[in-house]
Amino acid sequence: MPIVTSYMRAFNSKKLDPYPVEVLKRVDRPTTKILDDQVRRVDERESGFNRARRGDFGPNLQREVARFVPKFPISGALSFMSAAEVDIVDGIPAGTKAPLPDDPVAMSRHIKELAYFLRSDVVGICRLPPYAVYTNTFADGKPVELDHKYAIAILIDQDWKTIRGSSGHDWISASQSFISYSTSGFIACALADYIRRLGYPARAHHARNYQVVVPPILLWAGLGEVCRIGDIVLNPFLGPRFKAAIVTTDLPMEPDKPIDFGLQDFCNKCKKCARECPSNSISSDDKVMHNGYETWPNNVEKCTAMRVGNKHGSSCGTCIKVCPWNKPFTPFHRLMMWTMRTIPIMRNFAIWGDDLMGYGKPELKYKWWFDLEDVDGQLRVPPKSQDVDFYEAQKGGDPHADAPEERKEER
Ligand code: SF4
Ligand code: SF4
Repeated sequence: MPIVTSYMRAFNSKKLDPYPVEVLKRVDRPTTKILDDQVRRVDERESGFNRARRGDFGPNLQREVARFVPKFPISGALSFMSAAEVDIVDGIPAGTKAPLPDDPVAMSRHIKELAYFLRSDVVGICRLPPYAVYTNTFADGKPVELDHKYAIAILIDQDWKTIRGSSGHDWISASQSFISYSTSGFIACALADYIRRLGYPARAHHARNYQVVVPPILLWAGLGEVCRIGDIVLNPFLGPRFKAAIVTTDLPMEPDKPIDFGLQDFCNKCKKCARECPSNSISSDDKVMHNGYETWPNNVEKCTAMRVGNKHGSSCGTCIKVCPWNKPFTPFHRLMMWTMRTIPIMRNFAIWGDDLMGYGKPELKYKWWFDLEDVDGQLRVPPKSQDVDFYEAQKGGDPHADAPEERKEER
């Protein structure tokens, strides 16, 4: 009775997700307008980084785009791992379908269990919107043909502790992206391979080999809402502090529903990312319609110039660092997040309190990495390195000693 046994296990009532996603308000459509019949598919070659590669932003950024990640050895190593996943995204499904329960709900649960076993932080499933498929990829420029029915989205946390020690635009910044890119890519490749072994087509999409645009998939899979930081989707438990990989497939599954946790109202009030962005790329204005999506406008050219051309670090994620939703999952912050989600009148207070508590500032006592820059194959301590302060902090005894009482739980 192997099928029945698996079926019963798949339907057991124990809690599935590490985060309490069951408390979120589910809605039929994302909280921002998407005019499904007006969204044009986009060409990946027109992304900010690929335009920099093409020379659209001048010769300096065209040169720097090849080194802004590997110039710091940790992000170089992680990007190398990500590159190793490029050619293992797809394959031929097994000729015979596995004996599985004919139940999409049980299959969704099973796939999520596997994704968590593989160390995902948050997982969601949706029908694949046709407009989320690129027209062409940057790698070879060939037209993309992808007609899978479902998308599984895998989120990986960029690490609270590390971002706490960072300014958001120092040497560790690209590493935080690439720990999430390489890990989510690994999970997506393994998950897609497993589904193909069950006899269904499946393709992994990760940072070095996407055929799909990630944000609309995250919206429909109930993993977040559109936020003020351009095209980024913000998750109610991780904030914007994650990267995502996707698996597309025809394995029948029950999709999740979009979520509403009050972020549109929160971002209207907050604007902290716009205030702190070092390149003034983020607008403080209202949302606009762009390519069939309602979103806050941002300046892609300025943001790309900051990330690629950053002379005193590797990339930038300051907007992620300073966002009030970028918090650890402690009892205190769970209470604050619940308040921010459910009591609109308290949102101004939460925004004010976030500044008052000093969140968003780098805390050097948590810095654990060495500032290093590869210049023509030689590693050097970069100009304006903060490592001197770092060593002083290391000599200072308990690095938590001067943390406010209510923040000591974050140790
Ligand atoms: S990544 Fe940096 S430059 Fe780009 S929007 Fe965020 S804070 Fe601004
Ligand atoms: S910093 Fe504020 S405005 Fe910006 S994304 Fe986060 S909540 Fe929204």
